[in-house]
Amino acid sequence: MKVLVINCGSSSLKYQVLDMTNEMLLAKGLVERIGMEGSVITHEKIGMDKFKLVTPMEDHKDAIEQVLMAVQDKNHGVVASMNEIGAVGHRVVHAGEKYAESVLITEEVIKALEECIELAPLHNPPNLLGIAACRQLMPNTPMIAVFDTAFHQTMPPESYIYAIPYEYYTKHGIRRYGFHGTSHKYVAQRASAMLNINLDELKLITCHLGNGASVSAIKRGKCIDTSMGFTPLEGLVMGTRSGDIDPAIVTYIREKENLPQGVANEILNKKSGVLGISGVSSDFRDLEAAVEDGNERAMLALQVFAHKVRFYIGAYIAEMNGCDAIVFTAGVGENDVMMRELICNNLGNLGIKLDPIKNKVRGKETIISMEDAKVKLLLIPTNEELMIARDAYSIASRLK
Ligand code: ADP
Repeated sequence: MKVLVINCGSSSLKYQVLDMTNEMLLAKGLVERIGMEGSVITHEKIGMDKFKLVTPMEDHKDAIEQVLMAVQDKNHGVVASMNEIGAVGHRVVHAGEKYAESVLITEEVIKALEECIELAPLHNPPNLLGIAACRQLMPNTPMIAVFDTAFHQTMPPESYIYAIPYEYYTKHGIRRYGFHGTSHKYVAQRASAMLNINLDELKLITCHLGNGASVSAIKRGKCIDTSMGFTPLEGLVMGTRSGDIDPAIVTYIREKENLPQGVANEILNKKSGVLGISGVSSDFRDLEAAVEDGNERAMLALQVFAHKVRFYIGAYIAEMNGCDAIVFTAGVGENDVMMRELICNNLGNLGIKLDPIKNKVRGKETIISMEDAKVKLLLIPTNEELMIARDAYSIASRLK
């Protein structure tokens, strides 16, 4: 069976087509500037050059139409007709407490996801638009929703309850949910395969360090804690997000800087993180280039970032009473040799010893700890699309 994976943002859309008989990626692409001037689709049949088409796309339905045309194209396509696509897997950011696993999309699921819009006002609406467009254009193809929050639903209440009046949880659903769940789950499964130890017997800490970043504690295959919370703003320092701060700062800056409603939120999401500290960039490559030129604030930003990752690693070792392996994944985790060094530095007493030679590697599944280290350090490129395709495939196969 071939599966189409759709990850729909407000003005962009990423997609992949995979053949699930051998889990081969057949094609992938990106639609940008949906609903704006200069909408463009960039499509790549694996093994061939990319092709780019600038064409008006007023909404997500237009965008999906272009995707369907691209995947069926005579030259760049990978299917003769859409009948060959046995399922569509949709990435959906927030399922609240409703779903702990991927589900077949029905009217009832759509209603439940609409109810979660309040919890993820930026993410769930475009996800739902993508689903609606696909259902319209492929009415007979099973659609499966795969949620960023699902994997974290196993967290115990002591991890997810905030110490604020309890009725805010019961009335408004204010609790910690966690995100990047598909990625944490994928790398946990890969870690188990690499170590040749059953997930049930492992205590793992998975560090998804990209533009957005989060750490999870995974005990016997179940997430017991994660650093993102009610929204993806909590936890680690990120590219442009503050992560954990004293909540009193929000009202204080608002008064001191005389900020209108909503601006403080925007500052914490878009102008903070390593960008905010350094004043240079949210991209770690730029920061490291600036450090080479002697920029001290760029160095400080990297140190603050590393400090926070170390802080969570320590906390999760305590929560799990030990740890067998720490996984690094996503853009920074997979590629940033220097950041992994900063994070793992001087943790020998915890059994964490990075091998500086093995660490000189990028984007490849490999072990980077010293032979004698108690805690294995693993570099695992994430693959959220494959995870989505697997769930879509398995749910669609059961329908037959
Ligand atoms: P997103 O959260 O947008 O999916 P990614 O996981 O793709 O993010 O991570 C993107 C980030 O990864 C970039 O902003 C950059 O900081 C970092 N990155 C990518 N390649 C490198 C590299 N070679 N060295 C250091 N950092 C890198």
